[in-house]
Amino acid sequence: ANEKESMYLVSEYAQKYFSEVLWERELGKAIGLSYFKERGFTDETIKKFSLGYCLDQWDSFTNTALDKGYKLEYLEKTGLTIVKKQEGQEARKFDRFKGRVMFPIQSMSGRVLGFGGRILTNDKKAAKYLNSPESDIYHKSKVLYGIYHAKQAIAKEDNCYLVEGYTDVIQFHQRGIHNVVASSGTALTPDQIRLVNRLTKNITVLFDGDAAGLRASLRGIDLILEQGMNVRVCTFPEGEDPDSFSKNNSLEEVNQYLESNSKDFIQFKASLLIKETANDPIKKAETVRDIVNSISKIPDRIKKEIYIQECAQLMNISESVLFNTLAQIGKKEI
Ligand code: ATP
Ligand code: MN
Ligand code: MN
Ligand code: MN
Repeated sequence: ANEKESMYLVSEYAQKYFSEVLWERELGKAIGLSYFKERGFTDETIKKFSLGYCLDQWDSFTNTALDKGYKLEYLEKTGLTIVKKQEGQEARKFDRFKGRVMFPIQSMSGRVLGFGGRILTNDKKAAKYLNSPESDIYHKSKVLYGIYHAKQAIAKEDNCYLVEGYTDVIQFHQRGIHNVVASSGTALTPDQIRLVNRLTKNITVLFDGDAAGLRASLRGIDLILEQGMNVRVCTFPEGEDPDSFSKNNSLEEVNQYLESNSKDFIQFKASLLIKETANDPIKKAETVRDIVNSISKIPDRIKKEIYIQECAQLMNISESVLFNTLAQIGKKEI
């Protein structure tokens, strides 16, 4: 087998091992399985997403894998094992995901590419989530968490919900909403959008109700417009994210919430920014340019025109000025 195939095989083995620890081992059940149950995940959900647990021991996964004949080279290349070389001594090996619950990240066709691991303590010094490092099989800019389980539903519903985290995807599924994927904490990339674009032209971006990510994420959404997709956005109440909200509400309530709170992205961005800058002419000018810049990304000329008309009203500025700005942006890009 070639290198990549060996990396796939060791990743698949790791997924099976972490799940077995979660379901069969005393510590796995007491720590990992209880954690997921406390989050409200059912047995069925935990199995569907092949969740697991990596024991809180230095090298128990690595040693078991080596005993089974998996090569250290591939354990290291997939990042499952961290190898620390020391002068004059034998290299020391550590399990990267020691003491974390495990979320396997699967390709469109269901192969395990890498993992996200969540810490169980509230230790502020350690990263809450740790991901597999970039490797020949795991390119974080090219994968969307949940795409394997969502692809059919995305095509069928002709819409894709884009959420922030692993647990948002999982809790939505458990609630009965299957057309959902997560970017998992990284800024959205053109390759990730292309994965969805093959299945539907409609994306609804769901933002955690923590406001922190919202402003920073607006720019990334232009990339979706550029690919000719229709974008809607929906925010959640303060302190809630799709995980907590769908855990605490019925399917009907969640769908009702999504339906009545999803807004066209351009309208959403224009009203959000104009509210903040309406009283300051200089800032308002920046906002207007920002909005027109987003509109300029839309390939369809008819849609562009409609948005210009709408935003002229929303921002109380003449259409002709907006069209001129649009034309100027067009020239700069050539
Ligand atoms: P939880 O509900 O388990 O606390 P979450 O998914 O709600 O997790 P957020 O803080 O909303 O977590 O972050 C969204 C996503 O960003 C996470 O699912 C994870 O993929 C990524 N992320 C969050 N914190 C980190 C971190 N410290 N390092 C790397 N990725 C992170
Ligand atoms: Mn968040
Ligand atoms: Mn969240
Ligand atoms: Mn959460």
